[in-house]
Amino acid sequence: MAAKNGVTYRAFAYLRLSREDGDKEESNSIANQRQFIMDYVSRQDDIVLMREYCDDGFTGTNFERPRFRMMMSAIERGEADCVIVKDLSRFGRDYIDSGKYIQKIFPMLGVRFIAINDNVDSGRSDRSDDLIIPFKNLINDSYCRDLSLKLRGQFRVQRKKGEYIGAYVFFGYVKSKTDRHKLEIDPFAADVVREIFQMKLKGNSQQQIADDLNAKGIPAPAEYKKLCGLKYQSGFQQGAESCWTAVAVTRILTNRIYTGCLEQGKRSTPNYKVKKMVERPQDEWVVVEHNHEPIIDDKVFTAVQRVLKRDTRISKNGVVRPLSGYLYCGDCKNQMVYRSVKRSGVIHGYYVCGANRAGRGCSSHSFSAEKLEEAVLRAINAWIKLVTDVRKDSQKLGDERLKFYRAQRYDDLIEAKRREIDDNKDYRMKLYESLVDGVITREEYVTLRQRYTQKIEECQEELKRLEEELGKINDGLLMSCSWMDHFLQYGQAESLNRELVMLAVDQIFIYEDKRFEIVFNFKDELEEIRKYLDYVSKEAG
Ligand SMILES: [Zn+2]
Repeated sequence: MAAKNGVTYRAFAYLRLSREDGDKEESNSIANQRQFIMDYVSRQDDIVLMREYCDDGFTGTNFERPRFRMMMSAIERGEADCVIVKDLSRFGRDYIDSGKYIQKIFPMLGVRFIAINDNVDSGRSDRSDDLIIPFKNLINDSYCRDLSLKLRGQFRVQRKKGEYIGAYVFFGYVKSKTDRHKLEIDPFAADVVREIFQMKLKGNSQQQIADDLNAKGIPAPAEYKKLCGLKYQSGFQQGAESCWTAVAVTRILTNRIYTGCLEQGKRSTPNYKVKKMVERPQDEWVVVEHNHEPIIDDKVFTAVQRVLKRDTRISKNGVVRPLSGYLYCGDCKNQMVYRSVKRSGVIHGYYVCGANRAGRGCSSHSFSAEKLEEAVLRAINAWIKLVTDVRKDSQKLGDERLKFYRAQRYDDLIEAKRREIDDNKDYRMKLYESLVDGVITREEYVTLRQRYTQKIEECQEELKRLEEELGKINDGLLMSCSWMDHFLQYGQAESLNRELVMLAVDQIFIYEDKRFEIVFNFKDELEEIRKYLDYVSKEAG
């Protein structure tokens, strides 16, 4: 028999049947296995079948099988250099012992091993690791299934407790030395993460960010892990990029782990046999907020998510106007679009209502791009000044005292709300007396009673909200002023740049009469802090 590559393998077929192992007679009968192997060999032009060894009635959990031993002796005498089984479970059900043969003994003896149904063929692979992977899946089917279910349950419990159980840690964090389930900040990688977010806010694309990091020689996550001496433990990390890529950057920009929030169970294997990860629906994720120290402020993270969304609507020629994607028609709420005309050699840019431009009604709302950008710059500068002043005031007072005052203020509000509820209940009760005394009619009674009841319900809703807020203040979860510090570093801007717009602005509405209205990103937070500063200064005065 001529082989394509000039090599002909002399093969032994190995057959095994055991009722103990739950083998089904029909599918795994000796005759069936024999036929299966013979069919396979007939399709190969480099294998000759020498003879078969058959262990009937012997379990696969060990290798103390008479025919198996005879086969091994014959191989050692050099009578064959290939072993073929129908599938791995015919060879053995014990992973460690089977692995020893497949990974060590057979390669040492120069024996090619083929398990037809499991696509295992050491003659087609130069890495014995590749052979062992399918092995792990099959050995003891029911055992694997039980274990898989047990582990899944255990993982879910740990996730709920906020314990980090991922096989590897996200770039920017390390596992705590004292508690390996807790995440701690890795200063070097955390700085890189911060830089990535800053660069995104400056208007860079993910590719530009990746290029910049590579140019600076900053190791990509997989590379960094290697440098730190961490081994890959997770299958899908294999083949990870050693250089930064746009995908790697996007992965970081969209990962909420950097805000201190632990989201786990986002992906899962459908069952213990299928290795491929699938996305799980969002409501099945296990999310633990404030789980660990954040690297990125919530507000910055949110701003970046907005930027990522907006990136899809940036102009085609690559020139990004600082306000692109932020302008909306004040009347029809459609996006404004940029247009330019050339008049006596000079280009004039202007924004118009997108709906009007597309011939879908509305009016032009035309606004000179230059003038609008100038006006927005002034408004942003005024806003930065305000934020800076508020921040200085709050710093003077100290964050702790501000927290104290806020809690006190909420206490007052809660107390007032409780009184309001009691008063309204009182009025409602007295209504009946008024009805009995003939002061009001039955109709009036019904209307007024309804009104008081509604008022009480509203107050109770409000009370609940206030109590929740107070809880958050006491937990130190509100009142983070860190978003303000981002603005302090800017001072007054001399020109409008996209970074500033992205950080400060949520939306800008343009009206037909050349009015415009800016919705700032942190307006609620700023307003709240100002309110408390006012309150505190009145108390002090
Ligand atoms: Zn419009």
